[in-house]
Amino acid sequence: MQANLTTDPMVSDLERLLGQKKVLADFPTLTSYSIDGGIYKITPRAVVLIKEAIDLERVLEYARTHTIPLTARSAGTNLTGNAIGEGIILEFSGYDRIVELNREEQWVRVQPGIIYAELNKYLDRFGLIFAPDPSSGDMCRIGGMLGTNAAGPHTLKYGATKDNVISLEVYLADGKKITARSYHLQEPSLEHLLARSSQLQMLQDLIRQNSTLIHAKKLRVTKNSSGYNLFALAEGLDQGYFDLARLFVGSEGTLGLTIEAKLRLVAKPLRTATVLIYFAHLQDVGGAVNAFLALRPSAMEVMDANAMDIVGRSRHGIPREAQALLLMEFDEDPLEDSLQRMDQLCQQYRLCGDIQVAHAKEAQEALWKARKSIYPSLYRFDQKKRPINFADDVVVPAHRLSELIEYLDRYFKDLQVPVAIYGHIGDGNAKRLMWKGW
Ligand SMILES: Cc1cc2nc3c(=O)[nH]c(=O)nc-3n(C[C@H](O)[C@H](O)[C@H](O)COP(=O)(O)OP(=O)(O)OC[C@H]3O[C@@H](n4cnc5c(N)ncnc54)[C@H](O)[C@@H]3O)c2cc1C
Repeated sequence: MQANLTTDPMVSDLERLLGQKKVLADFPTLTSYSIDGGIYKITPRAVVLIKEAIDLERVLEYARTHTIPLTARSAGTNLTGNAIGEGIILEFSGYDRIVELNREEQWVRVQPGIIYAELNKYLDRFGLIFAPDPSSGDMCRIGGMLGTNAAGPHTLKYGATKDNVISLEVYLADGKKITARSYHLQEPSLEHLLARSSQLQMLQDLIRQNSTLIHAKKLRVTKNSSGYNLFALAEGLDQGYFDLARLFVGSEGTLGLTIEAKLRLVAKPLRTATVLIYFAHLQDVGGAVNAFLALRPSAMEVMDANAMDIVGRSRHGIPREAQALLLMEFDEDPLEDSLQRMDQLCQQYRLCGDIQVAHAKEAQEALWKARKSIYPSLYRFDQKKRPINFADDVVVPAHRLSELIEYLDRYFKDLQVPVAIYGHIGDGNAKRLMWKGW
């Protein structure tokens, strides 16, 4: 650890408050925390390592008194620059314990710094999983998943992070700690909470007053993580609930700082089947996605021709003439029924090669390999060029997928920008990632 050779009085104040080991302000640290998974760069004044709740309380009070911006960070893998900031970075990765597991009721209480994959490794021995599975699951942490409402291939069946949270312990900007959960409007604890926090009372009033407008603005899409989730709050109030967990999930640390989360778990499926299908014509993919959705797959991923070129067709045994691939997972018994119906459906599409089906873990991992290698392949693709980490989650109705891919392909060809299109397509979500020269 380098000494904090800085004349910034804020750093000495923080060192006095928290102890020297928890405050980093040396040049290499500030430089590495000036970026995250996105394309932006902002150098902070200091990084504070959160080891106990009291650390957070102290920094919050200090920052409030001195009007210094705070930015939470758990693994820094977000792609939109939301874990960087000019004031103090609150580093949660060292606050990573599993606090309590309730196997009967299927929930777990965790600190925000725990890595998603490690949590599931622990839960695996009890036959349970925390289902939202972003592709960055080996690196990202629960705090960040809550911050971004992370979703992944299995969101199709199990929902995004917001659908799998029971409650959050959150510090508000004024230093008050609240339990953000779904409150029944008649519950005495809600009355108590609103009496303690005038902002929450104001928020509830505002949502009631603007309920019609909020309902009218709700997008009719299967997935929307943009902005604060006022829709869920308005819908909740209509049904007699004030659902504060839904407000904080996806709010990117701008409304409060999560110090603990109670997460809903699901039973790990007893059997799964992974299916890989190559399409000879892009035009068939949209219709196929729609048809396969009726079979209730637990995951559905798409890759276009460019994405397959980039990961390497020969390396992954991808047919030369394939224009798109669909990767699906089924986990509902009887699996054989779904697979048989899928085979029948496939007869109407122009496929390349045989449909590949895997039941054993190793064989399934082999089928997922091409999809999982997209990010590393993009970064290694060209010595002189690097991908622009500007990844947009585009959501379109599944039946219009082929149209979207064709449009993006044409659009970026005109701009002479190579582009790979892939994503969690089952819920209508295709991601695109562009790259260009330095
Ligand atoms: C290769 C790759 C693949 C990806 N795939 C997916 C994917 O499939 N699906 C998906 O949704 N995302 C994906 N992402 C984006 C990103 O990994 C996820 O959104 C992830 O959940 C972010 O977690 P993190 O721990 O890195 O959070 P960070 O980047 O550290 O933070 C994310 C946000 O959460 C806030 N935050 C962090 N901790 C707290 C806290 N304790 N309290 C309050 N706010 C907090 C931060 O301020 C920030 O706004 C991918 C990224 C990469 C690099």
